[in-house]
Amino acid sequence: MTLRICDFKDVDISAFDAVVVGSGFAGAVTARELAERGGMRVLILEKRPHIGGNMYDEYDEAGILVHRYGPHIFHTNDQRVFNYVRRFTGWIAYQHHVLADWYGTYMPVPFNKNSMEIAFGEEKAAHLIQKLIDVFGDERKVTINELRETDDPELAEVADFVYQNVFLYYTQKQWGLTPEEVDPSVTARVPVFISRDDRYFQDAYQGMPSLGYTALFEELLGHENITVCLDTDAASVFDLEFQDGSEDAKLSAIKIKDAPFEGPIVYTGPLDELFCGRFGRLPYRTLDFVYETYDEEYKLPCATVNCTVTEDYTRVTEFKRLTAQKSDKTTIMKEYSRAYEDPDAQIPYYAIINDENNAHYQRYRALTESLPNFHPLGRLAEYRYYNMDKIIELALALSDELLATRADA
Ligand SMILES: Cc1cc2nc3c(=O)[nH]c(=O)nc-3n(C[C@H](O)[C@H](O)[C@H](O)COP(=O)(O)OP(=O)(O)OC[C@H]3O[C@@H](n4cnc5c(N)ncnc54)[C@H](O)[C@@H]3O)c2cc1C
Repeated sequence: MTLRICDFKDVDISAFDAVVVGSGFAGAVTARELAERGGMRVLILEKRPHIGGNMYDEYDEAGILVHRYGPHIFHTNDQRVFNYVRRFTGWIAYQHHVLADWYGTYMPVPFNKNSMEIAFGEEKAAHLIQKLIDVFGDERKVTINELRETDDPELAEVADFVYQNVFLYYTQKQWGLTPEEVDPSVTARVPVFISRDDRYFQDAYQGMPSLGYTALFEELLGHENITVCLDTDAASVFDLEFQDGSEDAKLSAIKIKDAPFEGPIVYTGPLDELFCGRFGRLPYRTLDFVYETYDEEYKLPCATVNCTVTEDYTRVTEFKRLTAQKSDKTTIMKEYSRAYEDPDAQIPYYAIINDENNAHYQRYRALTESLPNFHPLGRLAEYRYYNMDKIIELALALSDELLATRADA
């Protein structure tokens, strides 16, 4: 079934049972479930000119399939989630590998036995690996904090090496921090993998959609009960009503085309934008992507190279290594992490999660709690980082809940 696209000005809102804001996995999975299992007529409002949220991919001028909002690799341990996405596309078996560029020498990330041999030489690495196995056991992931806590100077040396050469500069670039500002609790979680397994993820199910993510979303949203309005910002078509005129007044209704919308409204955009940033903008990091195309079959030794000690971009990705596309050209993409300063021109990618920002977010969230048909969902609306599989799981859970409530009514 082909995707039903409609101009918002032509929408008869009384013809819809549910409104979903955003067409990433959060919005698209919920829309599909309500439409298919609940027989509900669902209207999706999407402010971008395309579906698929941050998973959107397209062919560039050289004919290479590129991810426009950062490289996305599907991985999960959740069988329900994997079975779900398998309904909408074939999958290419794919295992992600990341190398750190350490002054021109490549070593696997997460730091493992193979990295140790590159960093310390075979003889010393053999000694350190044996010590790690004796203390922690083989095939285990340990944090650099656990290494330091052993009070063994040689294991502390491994921890310091990983901190300085794999973690620190990358993290500074990613979050725009000085070394002093790097959060010790994050440092504590940096892993060392006592293994020869060079894969970046160890999940049971891993892969890439065989025709790309956009094609997957076209199938997911291709349902007779789903209509999509592109280039439609919810903030510009929602008319918010509040319980009173105070700054902290809670929502009492959302009107769409002059009438309060009574059905479920699943909102997957940023909450501060919905309320025009009335308590100040929620802080995020944004990304700039720089693409380079070469007349070569491959440019990188693996799909993603992290620049952990040099360069001012964080990482570089070669798309053909993700998608298994064959071509005598190749496109790579460098990621530059920046402060998020202009919601009109930039995209919020990573919520900056700390106590202060969580409290800031909760102030916005409290405005919505009075409206039982309003359901914030997803990485933006919940001000969290979620992988795709987790978002699909949450969207399925919310759909179950909404459909159960409807069945009871
Ligand atoms: C750089 C990067 C790389 C990532 N790589 C991976 C990976 O390899 N593997 C993995 O599992 N996860 C990855 N993720 C996480 C993944 O992107 C998220 O799990 C996923 O995007 C969450 O889906 P979502 O629907 O919540 O949000 P999104 O995909 O962001 O979708 C939200 C949608 O809502 C729309 N929207 C927002 N506001 C409005 C509004 N006011 N009106 C109308 N529409 C609106 C947006 O345009 C967007 O289309 C990555 C994230 C980033 C930032």
